[in-house]
Amino acid sequence: MVSETHTHEHDHAEHDHAHAHDAGEHEHAAELSEEAREAARERLRRGALAQIRQYPDVALRMKAREVTEFDEFLVQLVERMMTLMEDAQGVGLAATQVGVVQRLFVFSPDESGSFAVVNPRIVASSAETATEEEGCLSLQGVRVPVERATTISLEGVDPSGKEVRFELEGLAARVAQHENDHLDGVLIIDRTDAEHRREALGILRPQIVLR
Ligand SMILES: [Zn+2]
Repeated sequence: MVSETHTHEHDHAEHDHAHAHDAGEHEHAAELSEEAREAARERLRRGALAQIRQYPDVALRMKAREVTEFDEFLVQLVERMMTLMEDAQGVGLAATQVGVVQRLFVFSPDESGSFAVVNPRIVASSAETATEEEGCLSLQGVRVPVERATTISLEGVDPSGKEVRFELEGLAARVAQHENDHLDGVLIIDRTDAEHRREALGILRPQIVLR
């Protein structure tokens, strides 16, 4: 068995913040274009969210099936999910969130890149856990504390069917556990405490508009 091992660690690359300060006119123009770029990113984000299933969409509660066909459809699906994840400014996206009830997710936990895992299995989890706030692209406006294992070993295959193995820790481990949950129809509101669940359901309740 051939497997790849990816280790995710967070190294904080130092960025060079050298800005030329020219005439005031120049600075003003740069400010405006940054504003325009931000507006464009926000339009992309909203467009992506509109294509991602939102709670209480039934697809979010389905248990996904193993992927058996490694064909052009799968390759295109992964490409589409990668783009949606990036445009939505998320760090992970599961197939059930785009209405495809198959076991795969994409994630991008740090600067090392974006990965697609097909038929993922968490084969080992640390006894040590940590509780941190999580959000979800399918639960807009909700952030709840969720307890997760701090390190996991994740196995699966890539979109071409080649075996892959990831040793994950910290945020990367958290994201993979969150996305893997999606494939079993499990959401962060199922993983949090009763008080935060009640609060989240209040945010998610459809607003009735009286005219
Ligand atoms: Zn999610």
